[in-house]
Amino acid sequence: MRGWPQCCPKNVWLYIAKIPNLSELGTRFILQGGTQNNLAAVKAQVDFMRTRFKGSGRVPEIIVHRHAGEAGAIGAALEAVHLWRQGRETTFIGLDAVRNIEYRTTVGEETRCHFCKNHCVRTFIDIFAGEVEGEAQAASPSKLPLRPGERRLIIATCEKGTVEDLDSMRFIQAGLDAARDANPNLVEVAGREVWRMHARRKVADPIPSLGWTRSRRRRRSLMQNRREVRIGIPRVMAMYWFAPLFTGYFESLGLAPGNIVFSDFTTDEMFQAGAKRGSIDPCFPSKLALAHIHNLVFVKHLRNRLDCIFFPMLDVLRTRLVNVRASNACPTTALTPEVVKAAFTAEKDVFAENGILYLHPLLDLSTPHLLARQLHAALNPLLGLSKEENLRAVYEGLETLSRFEADIYRRGREFWIAWSGRAAWGLFCSDAPTIMTRE
Ligand code: SF4
Repeated sequence: MRGWPQCCPKNVWLYIAKIPNLSELGTRFILQGGTQNNLAAVKAQVDFMRTRFKGSGRVPEIIVHRHAGEAGAIGAALEAVHLWRQGRETTFIGLDAVRNIEYRTTVGEETRCHFCKNHCVRTFIDIFAGEVEGEAQAASPSKLPLRPGERRLIIATCEKGTVEDLDSMRFIQAGLDAARDANPNLVEVAGREVWRMHARRKVADPIPSLGWTRSRRRRRSLMQNRREVRIGIPRVMAMYWFAPLFTGYFESLGLAPGNIVFSDFTTDEMFQAGAKRGSIDPCFPSKLALAHIHNLVFVKHLRNRLDCIFFPMLDVLRTRLVNVRASNACPTTALTPEVVKAAFTAEKDVFAENGILYLHPLLDLSTPHLLARQLHAALNPLLGLSKEENLRAVYEGLETLSRFEADIYRRGREFWIAWSGRAAWGLFCSDAPTIMTRE
């Protein structure tokens, strides 16, 4: 019972319903389901729900349904009546037939699904509820044919596996595709497109003519070489949002887009290969960074030389929130580049050994002039930057990031408008929701 106060309401609201901010739903709640007969569960729910309203100036009204244990069944019965009135026919075989049901369960090679490379073993439940007069047995591609009067229920890992013939599977796949297209996963979209953003303008200074001073000659040589500089960036943590800032910055300074190299997408193999190096046990994303740096050094660099690995410590972040004191990354992730450096230089300096410069400046993304100063200090020795072109590049990077953000927010808004339109339509016309069924 000790787990109740935390787990039950958290499971319901945070993990299943995914509504952390309960107050946005309103103030009146009704608890139903047999679980509510357990007063400890009710207390845990009420306590949790009240804490979610703290500071909002509102108090939730929480009612336990008088027939909590049966409310779901009553709802199902009402829905059945509703559908029946619309002309839907029942598939229920009747109580008499239910009493006489026989079934057999098969799990084995003959039930294996081959619709994708997972090749899952499924469970076939073949139910016999008496032969229906005149009903012909449908031709089946199954390795396990049905006996007369049997119907098959398939328990599978995914929806596609619930059928046996290719046409039925394609029909299900088409439904899934349509649902996915209508409900794009914007996190996935952002996670794909964040690496594709490019600077629109080049803002680098013209290469200076040969001069007498050593610093001028050095800068000229670094600038001439700038297009060839290859920079590796780990594809981890906040880079999944801020990468356009850095690709925009580097490209606008004249680096070739192909020379900004991200580590591979995370895989189990990459983690196994590279995450052993850590001496302390930080959080998982932080540990993952070790694997990505390992990937840059031992895969990307070996394939095509990298001059530098750029893994900034992102401390103060850019935010759209107003009236907040600041927006900081969590200290563990912000300082991960330092932990990574320690891991790769503790016994021997892996970066120096491979001729790679490891740059991990602490950055404040909220203040362009401060950001410019921090980037200039870190990258001037590699790129020969003037303060003016560096500042211009910072603004170009911020512009690239803004374009990426605006695009994702626009898509989110468009989807929200389309979705809320559909939802409102569903409320106004008391139609049943559209369900893809196979006749
Ligand atoms: S059940 Fe789904 S996941 Fe498993 S093999 Fe079939 S299609 Fe693939």
